[in-house]
Amino acid sequence: MNTPLSAPDDFDPVIGQPQQLDDGLRRVVADNASPMTYRGTNTYLVGEGDVAVIDPGPSSETHLQALLGALKPKERISHIFVTHSHTDHSPLAKPLSQVTGAPVLAFGDSKSGRSDTMNDLAAQGLAGGGEGVDEGFAPDIMLVDGESVHHGDWALTALHTPGHFGNHLSFAMRDMVFCGDLVMGWASSLVSPPDGDLTAFMASCRKLATRDWRVFHAGHGAPIEDPEARLNWLIEHRLGREAQILAALENSPATAEALARQIYTETPPALIPAATRNVFAHLIDLHIHKRVSAAPQLSAEAVFALV
Ligand SMILES: [Zn+2]
Repeated sequence: MNTPLSAPDDFDPVIGQPQQLDDGLRRVVADNASPMTYRGTNTYLVGEGDVAVIDPGPSSETHLQALLGALKPKERISHIFVTHSHTDHSPLAKPLSQVTGAPVLAFGDSKSGRSDTMNDLAAQGLAGGGEGVDEGFAPDIMLVDGESVHHGDWALTALHTPGHFGNHLSFAMRDMVFCGDLVMGWASSLVSPPDGDLTAFMASCRKLATRDWRVFHAGHGAPIEDPEARLNWLIEHRLGREAQILAALENSPATAEALARQIYTETPPALIPAATRNVFAHLIDLHIHKRVSAAPQLSAEAVFALV
């Protein structure tokens, strides 16, 4: 539980240059480094000859040219897969599709894959926080959980893994998983309602943990060489936070913001809104599991009490 939220590592890729990671796997990092995106979005090129792209990245002409420039002679991009429709992952799908003729494959639009509870909160006006949503995102081909796509020398299997975002897919290839922003090595993943859903996040982490994978390739940062340990850390980290929230509610009912101020004592005031949103994600999950009540109703401003 002592691992920091953000662990500095020595991940320092050359932006825009293809790097061979494995047999039939190259990575090109986009030119969008930031505190939310770390060194930039990882775009993966899968296979040789007819190449699949996973997460084309942000709207960037520089990155578009970098992806086309990463192809060897006689190679072409035949498929464009998208893990989720945050603005650092999906906006380049359409321009890349127009240039290459390749279809865009994803779970669905930016509202798909949400739970009923999250749809209710969105209908109340709860807006997402953090990363921007690619509102107009519309895949050409919608993939369901467990669906495989084979082409040329590669095969990818889509796994629906909501939690960071409702339409989030991970893609399994051999003993690797392209896990988007669900699991990252350098930060615990953002779970911000209504797109972020902690109930779904825990289920998705547990789902990925049921198989023995060799490596995860995330949306940002270095490959995760011990996926099982990372998944277990993420699950334990969230359970630890949940225990803190339940302990604080033993004293008295409270709002998400009051709980965040009690629990995140080391956090600078400017980051309390983000912490509040994280606590709210936990409270929604606890409400779904009937461990807390919300008055007058479940909302970001509600007063929560132990049941
Ligand atoms: Zn991202």
